[in-house]
Amino acid sequence: MYRMAKKGKLLIEILPDKCDFCGCCVGVCPEDAIELKEASIRIIDSFCTNCSKCVWACPIEVIKFNKEGVEA
Ligand code: SF4
Ligand code: SF4
Repeated sequence: MYRMAKKGKLLIEILPDKCDFCGCCVGVCPEDAIELKEASIRIIDSFCTNCSKCVWACPIEVIKFNKEGVEA
């Protein structure tokens, strides 16, 4: 699942099937852009600023950059 971010440059790939719903990413997101409900997780596109804090916070690396979305 790819999520378009506010500025339209960087996309974040989130793999909900592999998520264990620990909430670490939610805790570091400065924009409250990650919605976690029991067994579902999503990034709210209009809130995300591509800061990448969630990518580095995920202990099992199921949030990743989609390099195809990065402008050279
Ligand atoms: S990239 Fe930043 S703003 Fe976007 S969901 Fe992750 S922590 Fe939140
Ligand atoms: S930090 Fe990773 S494993 Fe934890 S809820 Fe977020 S995406 Fe899922």
